[in-house]
Amino acid sequence: MDAVDEAQRYQDLAREEALQNALSRNQGEQLIVEGIVFCHTCHLPLSEARLQAMPTATHCVDCQNIEEKQQGKRHGGG
Ligand SMILES: [Zn+2]
Repeated sequence: MDAVDEAQRYQDLAREEALQNALSRNQGEQLIVEGIVFCHTCHLPLSEARLQAMPTATHCVDCQNIEEKQQGKRHGGG
């Protein structure tokens, strides 16, 4: 019996559902659920430092880096 695990799983499911709903509503905007800003790509909460550095960030540092790298390829010059 592990009630904590079950509660955690339910919370994760509810949050994932809320995230999906929010995502479908605001594609280009910040993903905010229960006052927390989540990354569009990996659905992890953005760190406070990240939000202080960029209050309008929609992606965490990791996903932002990956996207910038992918976009950077198009510019060439490497
Ligand atoms: Zn991310």
